[in-house]
Amino acid sequence: MLSSSLPRLEQESPAYICPYDQACSYLEAAAKELQLDEGILEVLSHPRKVVTVSIPVKRDNGQVQVLAGHRVQHCDILGPYKGGTRYHPAVTLREVSALAMLMTWKCALLGIPYGGAKGGIAIDPKLYSVGELERITRRYTSELIKDIGPAVDIPAPDMGTSAREMAWMMDTYSVNVGHAVPGVVTGKPISIGGSRGREMATGRGVMFIVREALTDKGQSLVGARIAIQGFGNVGSAAALLLHEAGAKVIAVSTGSGGIFCEDGLDIPALKAYAAENRKSIVGFGQATPISNADLLTLPCDVLIPAALENQITEDNANQIQAKIIAEAANGPVTLVANQALEARGVMVLPDILANAGGVVVSYLEWVQGLSYVFWDEERVNKELEQLMVQAYRQVMQQSLHRQIPLRLAAYTLGVGRVAQALGDRGLYP
Ligand code: NAD
Repeated sequence: MLSSSLPRLEQESPAYICPYDQACSYLEAAAKELQLDEGILEVLSHPRKVVTVSIPVKRDNGQVQVLAGHRVQHCDILGPYKGGTRYHPAVTLREVSALAMLMTWKCALLGIPYGGAKGGIAIDPKLYSVGELERITRRYTSELIKDIGPAVDIPAPDMGTSAREMAWMMDTYSVNVGHAVPGVVTGKPISIGGSRGREMATGRGVMFIVREALTDKGQSLVGARIAIQGFGNVGSAAALLLHEAGAKVIAVSTGSGGIFCEDGLDIPALKAYAAENRKSIVGFGQATPISNADLLTLPCDVLIPAALENQITEDNANQIQAKIIAEAANGPVTLVANQALEARGVMVLPDILANAGGVVVSYLEWVQGLSYVFWDEERVNKELEQLMVQAYRQVMQQSLHRQIPLRLAAYTLGVGRVAQALGDRGLYP
């Protein structure tokens, strides 16, 4: 297995599905399909740089805690590294490494001149005060100061982080180098060079991809029944935009449970409710409570997992009733489950395509920042739509042309473009 080169630092139970092993399996499958040179495959299977730093933080009660912060840079053949920063208790080095690799293929698939990276700290941000989170973010940034930068590696928000953390990162980096450097992060507030449309971008991208897939299946978005796991940045934006486009969002969930309404939930009201209730959706209106497990197996047209990895596994794949699964989260469907779903004819829109809207608008934010010209939201959304629809069409064509499933089609496009660039650049020295 290619991934054996990465140290296994985590406790691994027999049920543990290693995201890095899965990422390598997808890479190997794409390499086989493309008949890739073995040397190129060997290079692409290893992250270029793996950094783990200690983050000592003084808690509000005076105690000092030392956290581990990771940043993995997978491949910068096409341009600077790019990738989110995740704050979640389940963060591990192998997970961050897998997500960094995914970012490489995602950027290449979308035609964006970036390489893949990812960062993360294993904390539950809900258990830390705003002041503590600021101290953690600033120290993490400071420890990574030599490894990030607008031409080197550009962090963005991911699970558990938002524009607020990006502003702290941008400020810490800028203070350390002695001048303002907005381009060191994307997904930052508009007041310091963020892009209009960035906050909703991943959810908007999901909406475009779902719309295209339904159209290809001869169905309209209007009236389509949709279930969404996760009501954070991505899930809530996708829910709102799908609702506005006329779809019926019949169920949503968060880590503390979900809700269901046969006639479709009032998503704007639900968003307002969640904002007032510390992001909880439980107890909203007349909706019926539903578990996360039951949400996944609801009869619906489209299922959108927008929370964590490994939610659809061999245990529940055969109970999934949706016709289309759009992977808004990274890696929500395991490799084995993916095969079972494909065998049943369920259309699985892979993460490197379905959730690419965020990195697309991050790229547009970076372009605006570098040119000191800022666009209105309409233009940003139009550029996003064009890139997402183009990538969707290319994946469909590749799938048809090679007679391969959508995920493999997306990987062959992403991996193939990086491999081509690596071949053209050659191996140094
Ligand atoms: P977020 O922290 O804003 O929201 C995560 C949501 O998942 C929350 O509603 C949370 O309650 C829910 N959740 C957590 N644990 C859960 C569980 N066990 N069961 C059900 N729900 C659970 O995170 P986000 O930024 O929306 O990211 C969600 C996913 O999308 C992640 O996989 C992330 O990597 C991916 N993603 C995010 C972006 C982005 O721009 N933010 C871009 C691409 C991909």
